[in-house]
Amino acid sequence: MIRFESVGKSYPDGTVAVGDLSLDVPDGQITVFVGPSGCGKTTSLRMINRMIEPTSGRITVDDRDTATMDAATLRRSMGYVIQHAGLFPHRTIKANIATVPLLLGWDRRRAERRALELMEQVGLPAHLAKRYPAQLSGGQQQRVGVARALAADPPIMLMDEPFSAVDPIVREQLQDAFLRLQAELGKTIVFVTHDIDEAIKLGDQVAVLQVRGELAQLAPPATLLAEPADEFVADFVGKDRGYRTLSFRSAPYPVAEEPTVPVGASTDLVRRTAVGGWALVTDDERRPLGWVDPDKVDGTVSTRSLHRGGTVASVTGTLREALDAALSSPSGRGVIVDDTGALLGTVQAREVVDAITATARRET
Ligand code: ADP
Ligand code: MG
Repeated sequence: MIRFESVGKSYPDGTVAVGDLSLDVPDGQITVFVGPSGCGKTTSLRMINRMIEPTSGRITVDDRDTATMDAATLRRSMGYVIQHAGLFPHRTIKANIATVPLLLGWDRRRAERRALELMEQVGLPAHLAKRYPAQLSGGQQQRVGVARALAADPPIMLMDEPFSAVDPIVREQLQDAFLRLQAELGKTIVFVTHDIDEAIKLGDQVAVLQVRGELAQLAPPATLLAEPADEFVADFVGKDRGYRTLSFRSAPYPVAEEPTVPVGASTDLVRRTAVGGWALVTDDERRPLGWVDPDKVDGTVSTRSLHRGGTVASVTGTLREALDAALSSPSGRGVIVDDTGALLGTVQAREVVDAITATARRET
């Protein structure tokens, strides 16, 4: 168990990042620290492995005061995952994952075997082992970050907004993979996020923090929702609550026809097809491949000229997916596909919001 006993952190400039925090992090569970930006989540997390030294109070791990331990040893004994994965750009994926085991003196072969085993566990195909981080997608990089933190099989994992920088669909995949892994491994996890949805989905218990790391409530997600301790919590968990419950529903929204171009289309054709500066490229089976900007097409459309990164929503999916698709699309038009993955058309954010509002009105 990790125990915070009246822990505080003040900076010389007078900033009180964390005032006086007391709480217990039970073994084998996920404890989420959630709260608005600047409330002291990262500071609290980093005080656990002494990347930041508390200025008052103490933190114990299994009743041992961390201040009495060697800081480097303490750090290595806990997995640490951050946003953007924080991978070493000039090391291969395999070498990145093997970092801590090698530091701990494992022989190279054992460390590499472990790295490959972990890649499988977090859902990364083995052929990526020799690639470099920049050659992976954002979601894959976060999986590497998780694998690296797990490499030396630490009992404790500290995770600071590990899934915040990827798009919503990938984030959900990462969360699901993470929960499956945790069901198997049963680590003691402290997970920091500013996203109340994520906190509720992942946490066995959730610590809602407000400014200066003041603990507003510590409770399982269901209690937090049903019995918020005070107005701050009610406000925080209630924020977008209508949108959140709706976000799991599907409802009709208008799907407009979207003209498309194939790979190999000429700049001229792209220019004639584009609406609002963007044309959608599809393959022979009408599956969307990405958006293209006519000004960026060099002669003909190649897969390299495609703008990727926007998410695609299934028409049978939720309103939230449709909204994500619209908000993540460079054209502002969310790509909607049918069950086979073929293009149906596009929807604009405004239209999804209208559908959400209409559904909310019907339900109240
Ligand atoms: P969170 O992770 O919840 O966004 P942080 O723990 O990063 O918040 O920061 C908490 C507060 O401490 C913020 O007000 C931040 O500006 C302040 N802070 C963080 N690091 C320093 C520092 N080195 N010097 C002064 N203030 C800092
Ligand atoms: Mg932070």
